[in-house]
Amino acid sequence: MLARWRAVNAGVRAAEQAADRPSGSVALLAVSKLHPAQAIRTLHAAGQIAFGENYVQEALDKMAELADLPLQWHLIGPLQSNKTQSVAAHFDWVHSVDRLKIAQRLSAQRPAELPPLQICLQVNIDDEDSKSGCALADLPALAEAVLALPHVRLRGLMAIPKPGNVAAHALLAKTASDLLARLPALAAQPFDTLSMGMSDDLTDAVAAGSTMVRIGTAIFGARPAPESD
Ligand SMILES: *Cc1c(COP(=O)(O)O)cnc(C)c1O
Repeated sequence: MLARWRAVNAGVRAAEQAADRPSGSVALLAVSKLHPAQAIRTLHAAGQIAFGENYVQEALDKMAELADLPLQWHLIGPLQSNKTQSVAAHFDWVHSVDRLKIAQRLSAQRPAELPPLQICLQVNIDDEDSKSGCALADLPALAEAVLALPHVRLRGLMAIPKPGNVAAHALLAKTASDLLARLPALAAQPFDTLSMGMSDDLTDAVAAGSTMVRIGTAIFGARPAPESD
């Protein structure tokens, strides 16, 4: 696993260089869903801080087991309203906010002693059949409403393009810059994150401006099938 993690890091650096971007401008989120806490502990010892999880209860169990480590936890899977309270209390980032009700609950439930929850809005960039992600047309209104919430910081956009859709990365990047031009108040957040790029589309995503790639399989190997959350 450590050899794969090093190879993925080298791949991110190579993609930055190929895109003429500064070394270190793209963060690696290690997607640890369905992998054991011990694997996270091993990667942390090697220098990995940020971990992505999809299933709230599974993530809470791992957080409890790894409470001695200064890890940064990112929720990247779909979020139902009945889970927002534990997410607001325990995660550092949520990449999958796609409607106002969820953002409102996260803001209202974020404990006062914690820094604001860092969030990305998930955009449905190319999949009309998917229920995940805000439609492009609805994004400006959602972003404006989220900006007014006190305990979340709107850091950027996230997308999960269909495999092979290389145009999706550029579209997400353009969507983010259009949004910033339309809502100048976003710049204060700061609105600086493009969460895109997975094991198979890392290089394209970095070329298009990704600032955070979410990599699971290429680091940890194949996952067992999910249990219901
Ligand atoms: C599982 C998952 C990933 C990681 O996928 P791999 O193919 O294992 O790299 C990235 N992003 C999201 C939203 C995921 O659910």
